[in-house]
Amino acid sequence: MRPDILNPLFAEVETLKGVGPGIARPLDRLGLKRVKDLLYHFPTGWTYRKAVKVVDMADVGQNIIVTLAIASHRSGGSARSPLRIHGVDSEGNYLTLTFFGRTGSWAKKQLPVGETRVVSGKLERYGDELQIVHPDHIAPVGDMKPVALVEPVYPLSEGITSNRLHALVLQGLERLPNLPEWIESSLVASKNWGSWNQSLSTVHQRDDKTVRDRLAYDELFANQLAMRLVRAALDRRKGPPIEGDGRLVSQLRLPFALTGAQRRVIGEIEGDLAQSRPMLRLLQGDVGSGKTMVALHALLRAVESGKQGAMLAPTEILARQHFANLQASLAGLPVNVAILTGREKGRVRESVLMGLADGSIDILVGTHAIFQEAVTYKALALAIIDEQHRFGVSQRLMLSRKGQGVPHLLVMTATPIPRSLALACYGEMDVSQIDEMPPGRTPVETRVISEERLPELIDGVARHLATGRQAFWVCPLVEESERSELAAAEQRAEMLRLRFGDQVALVHGRMKGPEKDAVMEAFAAGKTRLLVATTVIEVGVDVPNASLMIVEASDRFGLAQLHQLRGRVGRGSEKSSCILVRSSQISETARARLALMRETNDGFRIAEEDLKLRGAGELLGTRQSGESPFRVATDEQVRELITAASDDARLLIDRDGGLDRPRGAAARIALYLFERDAGLATLRGG
Ligand code: ADP
Ligand code: MG
Repeated sequence: MRPDILNPLFAEVETLKGVGPGIARPLDRLGLKRVKDLLYHFPTGWTYRKAVKVVDMADVGQNIIVTLAIASHRSGGSARSPLRIHGVDSEGNYLTLTFFGRTGSWAKKQLPVGETRVVSGKLERYGDELQIVHPDHIAPVGDMKPVALVEPVYPLSEGITSNRLHALVLQGLERLPNLPEWIESSLVASKNWGSWNQSLSTVHQRDDKTVRDRLAYDELFANQLAMRLVRAALDRRKGPPIEGDGRLVSQLRLPFALTGAQRRVIGEIEGDLAQSRPMLRLLQGDVGSGKTMVALHALLRAVESGKQGAMLAPTEILARQHFANLQASLAGLPVNVAILTGREKGRVRESVLMGLADGSIDILVGTHAIFQEAVTYKALALAIIDEQHRFGVSQRLMLSRKGQGVPHLLVMTATPIPRSLALACYGEMDVSQIDEMPPGRTPVETRVISEERLPELIDGVARHLATGRQAFWVCPLVEESERSELAAAEQRAEMLRLRFGDQVALVHGRMKGPEKDAVMEAFAAGKTRLLVATTVIEVGVDVPNASLMIVEASDRFGLAQLHQLRGRVGRGSEKSSCILVRSSQISETARARLALMRETNDGFRIAEEDLKLRGAGELLGTRQSGESPFRVATDEQVRELITAASDDARLLIDRDGGLDRPRGAAARIALYLFERDAGLATLRGG
């Protein structure tokens, strides 16, 4: 459904003049396959030049453009020494042009003695002389194309220069179709934005925030519009209303009373479930606020009405823990719970698949495996996503093929997502919030210590373990490689074993599932007492007797992540502590961030602060995995512009029903989203 008008932009880069395999290869390495990719390959820096009549010591360090009369060529004595060409400016000052290696013979031809040339490059001082090494431009006076005062610098790959790339971009720009303005005219006026064509051309010619903002807005707007269209399409298909009669919920025997906040959000969710318009709700609640109980209530509603529910966990460990918890809570009730992860294979997997298809399984818990192609449900009516920050439009479409209608969707997160980000990731969602902790929790005491005090820390751990309690020890996050992260954890475990012997256990991401489970189970049962871990324990693991959390190199973690880790302790009635070990030398910002952790336990404040300091992609954990939903918009632009984009999308859809009339929306959506979000291709326009 890509509009034909875009064909020239979607053509392969090879269709541009002068692009053979020699250039196509470096372009491909840069991810530039089609003409539109080139146009959206924005400069990351600029070369500024100053046009001068005379060369002047005062301009050393600057890029200058100057006209010179070429006076002499002087080759060095040996083959290795550079060629020096002397030029004279209009007032008789000398400038040396220096060429190393094989460029010499070429330079002699470009700069014949007695001729005048326009030359540009970075002015340097060489002894008493002024020189330019390897001028970037040499042209006859009065050349058609004057040397630019500003030139873009592009991210490059070997085999292509910034100049060459820019020339290709200019060629590509000639293909820009004329799309009508699609942004609300009042917004365009108030922001002083130029047209899309103009902006795309200007963004390659000078550094201009207004222009970049306009293009970022285009992307955000396309994204918001696509989300709304998907939602509208799904709403039209309806879902199965869930109207439980309370017969299962009333049989639950919980060891505690629900908090007021839990009761309130359960009410909000049940209100949604009773509708045939599929629920799309985000449940926010800090670590330990009791989201699982809310999920259980919603799932039981589905089962009461004769339907199925599914709960997706981000990791194997968490899936198993949810499964164990559900089984425990549901003991004695006529509810059949099953688990499906990548690890259930063969017979076991077959029997789960059968149970889902014939409806004998009521609730399924698992990892992403539960929504794979081969999994068919008899009557899936509710899907719950736990702790997953990226569950985008295409996943939602996939899910919609699982039930007879579109299942209700509940996304649970402990990382409070500011509205701007929620919009960017999920589009317009309803939000419920658990803003109250279960009673009887003592707040975790947080301390920051320098790594130099490691020996004292280990003595502290010894005292802690001696009281019969347990502890987590999280090893540094090593971004470059999982392997070095593992090495660090193994080393630490070894060192701690010298002191604590086989009380120490190690768990890491490279372990096979059963192995990992065995370690976690032994720790949960108190057989081991000090759990050394890479960040795999980050989410969800519940061991109430573990009341000490140590995080090494904590300055390398995101605040939200630290908050999650800290949430692993403080689950029992004991006073718990979290010790953030920091590198001995850290920046002021890092210091401030850790101080904030010490100061507050408020997940919302921490998330806001994290967002300010590290940016949206970091908070969502998408930057590292290269999964930012946006290609053009930066985190800052997302924050500034997403609300307007969302509002404008709503207006456009309310007024025109969505695509193409009158603003060429389908074209923009195709331009920005299709390749990124394959699921969207199934969306029918109009
Ligand atoms: P999270 O919101 O982080 O997923 P959990 O659902 O894992 O939190 O709950 C954390 C702990 O609090 C669990 O041990 C759970 O049994 C307990 N819990 C949940 N609700 C209550 C409540 N109303 N009163 C006391 N404890 C509760
Ligand atoms: Mg949880």
